[in-house]
Amino acid sequence: MDISVFTNKFGPNKIEKDKDLFPYLTLRTHVIAPYFFEAETKGELVSVLTMCLRENVPYILIGGGSNTAIITKEIRGLTIKNSYSELKLIHEEKTYVELSISSGYSVSLLVSETVEKGWGGFEYHKGLPGTMGGGVYMNSKWTRPLSYIGDRLISAQILDKKGRLKLVERDYFQFGYDFSTLQKTGEIFIDGIFRLEKTDPNILKRRADESLSYRKKTQPFGVATCGCFFQNISKADQLRLDLPTTSVGYLIDKAGMKNLKIGAFSVSNLHANFILHSARGDGKTQDLLQLISEIKRKVKERFGVTLIEEVVVI
Ligand SMILES: Cc1cc2nc3c(=O)[nH]c(=O)nc-3n(C[C@H](O)[C@H](O)[C@H](O)COP(=O)(O)OP(=O)(O)OC[C@H]3O[C@@H](n4cnc5c(N)ncnc54)[C@H](O)[C@@H]3O)c2cc1C
Repeated sequence: MDISVFTNKFGPNKIEKDKDLFPYLTLRTHVIAPYFFEAETKGELVSVLTMCLRENVPYILIGGGSNTAIITKEIRGLTIKNSYSELKLIHEEKTYVELSISSGYSVSLLVSETVEKGWGGFEYHKGLPGTMGGGVYMNSKWTRPLSYIGDRLISAQILDKKGRLKLVERDYFQFGYDFSTLQKTGEIFIDGIFRLEKTDPNILKRRADESLSYRKKTQPFGVATCGCFFQNISKADQLRLDLPTTSVGYLIDKAGMKNLKIGAFSVSNLHANFILHSARGDGKTQDLLQLISEIKRKVKERFGVTLIEEVVVI
């Protein structure tokens, strides 16, 4: 890859070579990116992505790296870490506020700030790692009660595959379970306007704390993981198989996989849809791949269901 076009534009120190992505991935695997760029402003983010598109340079975009598992032998092109972090109050009415929130904004920071201000809508996501970019791309959710990151979006600026900035309305994203249209189009969410309801901060705090404590009770916490690895099954599959839940954790558990360990990777004994990486961080890609395929094989054998990854596997 000819990086001169990037160093000419951003200076010689902005592109880092042979960067270990360990700190940028919550699975804490050691993966080497031959070229790494941290976009700290909107200008940098839009410019670097536009240059990649124009120069036909492949890229990987990372937000919080909490839904990404990199298993490829060799990363091609540029790895871009999105640190464009900006939140602005742009409109206020008696009952609601509208915020402009950037794609690199941390969801946990957003939750604590909006709860404190008494702006309701994101409080159930307390404990959700990652950035708003990853949250919009995945339409990340909390199920008690059902609340999606995309619920509050009004409009957004996105970058299309030709490097053009476009202003789109919420409907454009076709939000669904673990889905936004960005997964099909490959477009990038740059920033967006979100509407939040003015609510008593004590109520928001109670909801946020309830979510977090339920999370801590039911999921492994403070460990190296990328969260739920597979998507839950459909309601139709649940009824067809006469199962008490759509939770894939239940299926993996019943297939006898809890605690299964291959190398430094294991199935959590608390929530079987979580794959954990040992604290030593010395896991081998081959072992992770083997564990993933073993889980899929056993669930298929026991229930006839083909599991689909929720995590973006590169
Ligand atoms: C402990 C733990 C708990 C979790 N709990 C939940 C949960 O309760 N609910 C839930 O839904 N998920 C959960 N997750 C998964 C994950 O945190 C979410 O999906 C999160 O929103 C991903 O955000 P991210 O910034 O880390 O995404 P990344 O992993 O950085 O990226 C994920 C994908 O989004 C793409 N992407 C990132 N930014 C943009 C952008 N600006 N425009 C377009 N595409 C972009 C990336 O290229 C990649 O393909 C959990 C994960 C962990 C580790």
